[in-house]
Amino acid sequence: MKVVIIGGVAGGASCAARLRRLDEKAEIIMVERGPYVSYANCGLPYHIGDVIEKESSLLVATENTFRSQFAVDARTNCEAIKISPDRKTIDLRNVKTGEVTTESYDKLVLSPGAVTVRPPLPGIDLPGIFQVRTVPDARAIREWLERGSLFLAGMDKYSGFQTVRPKTRAVVIGGGFIGLETAENLVHRGFDVTLVEMLDQVLAPLDREMARVVEGYLERHGLRLALNDGVSGFKQAANGAIEVETKSGKTYPADVVILSLGVRPDTALAKSAGLEIGERGGIRVDDQMRTSNPDIFAVGDAIEVKDFVTGQWSLIALAGPANRQGRIAADVIAGRDSRFRGTQGTSIIGLFGAVAAWTGVSEKTLNRLGDKDFEKIYLYPNSHAGYYPGARPIAMKVLFRKSDGRLLGAQALGEVNVDKRISALAMAIQMGATIYDLEEAELCYSPQFGSAKDPVNFAGMVAAGVLRGDMPIRHWDDTGKGFLLDVRDPVELAVEQAQGAVNIPLGQLRARLGELPRDRDILVICRSGQRAYYATRMLLQNGFKARTLSGGMLSRFHAQLLEN
Ligand SMILES: Cc1cc2nc3c(=O)[nH]c(=O)nc-3n(C[C@H](O)[C@H](O)[C@H](O)COP(=O)(O)OP(=O)(O)OC[C@H]3O[C@@H](n4cnc5c(N)ncnc54)[C@H](O)[C@@H]3O)c2cc1C
Repeated sequence: MKVVIIGGVAGGASCAARLRRLDEKAEIIMVERGPYVSYANCGLPYHIGDVIEKESSLLVATENTFRSQFAVDARTNCEAIKISPDRKTIDLRNVKTGEVTTESYDKLVLSPGAVTVRPPLPGIDLPGIFQVRTVPDARAIREWLERGSLFLAGMDKYSGFQTVRPKTRAVVIGGGFIGLETAENLVHRGFDVTLVEMLDQVLAPLDREMARVVEGYLERHGLRLALNDGVSGFKQAANGAIEVETKSGKTYPADVVILSLGVRPDTALAKSAGLEIGERGGIRVDDQMRTSNPDIFAVGDAIEVKDFVTGQWSLIALAGPANRQGRIAADVIAGRDSRFRGTQGTSIIGLFGAVAAWTGVSEKTLNRLGDKDFEKIYLYPNSHAGYYPGARPIAMKVLFRKSDGRLLGAQALGEVNVDKRISALAMAIQMGATIYDLEEAELCYSPQFGSAKDPVNFAGMVAAGVLRGDMPIRHWDDTGKGFLLDVRDPVELAVEQAQGAVNIPLGQLRARLGELPRDRDILVICRSGQRAYYATRMLLQNGFKARTLSGGMLSRFHAQLLEN
């Protein structure tokens, strides 16, 4: 069997290596248009920021590794230019010489990835405007940043304030994870960085109140955010600088511009071969990664996948799914019955020492789909036992089905061990778990790593308390005519108060029940929700109509960020 794989990075390289492990006899050709196979594109922003100093560290495996270890005929600088599905051949062009050759195939795998969105804006081709997609892209950015012409070249040996190098100004366009990672790295290099984003938030998969927290954090670390504003064009300015013009009429001067406006599936070859393209613009495949032509498979950023939670077609440009899909395509070609389960968009990003991570569906997606059968909770557990040094709070939002408790999505922000909580919840979602399963999850615990009630258990307990009716909740956008009861200690009120709330500290509540109305909903507040829960239980058992305000004053902070 002869298998040709187009694209030699995440999906393509995984497919090639897996196929060899399953079939020693297959003839495998893997072609890659660029100069490298199997490179770590996820590391590129950190190479730009000099965290990963050597370019060679990004090269996970070479052509030779594939040849010697896997007997894969890996060809770099080799572009697939035409598929002839009827004859089952593919035309390949040597990028360096222009020579075109034709290869036959029994099975073809497309893993061409995505193309960076590059709108035809005035001045977009000016020198100094870059994208971050490949190793040569990162090299070009580093060379540009390090060139002398940004300032008075050769003046370093003179003293005097006029030779003090001004901050290099960078404008990053796009607040997705590549844009943010690159922006963070440029701040680390001491640059003056502005991030322009057309949406009203960074990190679009997060719900807005969670993204607001991230935005505040970014600004506190020196990143200037210009949200709700699209770029309209670029102009050449003096000394090689660029002026970035926006739709709102603002101008941002820049010595370097990074375009990170998102990606779209690279479907050029698939379209020319007459393969079906889906509603979201990606190559349509079945759960075995087969395209509309049974001898052609497609994987990675180029395809549409079913969202595991919503069942909708979606585009997910992530390395994990691409690797798994490459493996599944290899399995199926080798005769195994592997299937892709769909994607949850599980993601994580580190920014200035903090972490944002999420999995599954967001509240705004559920609202967009008109789905009303869900509830959300906010909780702020510690990363590990509070008495052990270094514990930091994690802000979590968890979404679940009201009707059956199925876990739908989770978002978390924090500094420590955020990843393991979202990873556990991601696995739970994939297993179709409910919040009742989270209550029962048996997770690692000793004081330096977690709590006897891990944040994942805790999320399950809080959510299950809501669904069982033990802890009816309300949210800050729905306080209505409720009676606000604040059960914090008076000293806490000095820091921040809930307007209109009556304060009865939890310890005095049993003795002061007579002060509370029996004909109104009592909405109970504390700092994070825990004492409010205890109070709610006490009030319910004494015949009051009590509800906990989910997340307490901490989620009030989220709600206020949205209002402002
Ligand atoms: C800067 C950056 C940071 C990222 N960080 C993360 C991260 O932290 N976490 C995460 O999950 N994901 C991350 N990603 C996304 C992840 O890298 C991609 O989702 C993944 O690489 C997709 O795999 P793929 O095989 O579909 O495409 P790619 O890995 O992009 O590989 C496609 C290859 O196909 C080649 N090709 C295209 N057309 C042809 C042709 N006609 N002939 C020959 N070769 C062709 C291209 O040159 C390219 O090298 C990041 C991506 C970038 C660019």
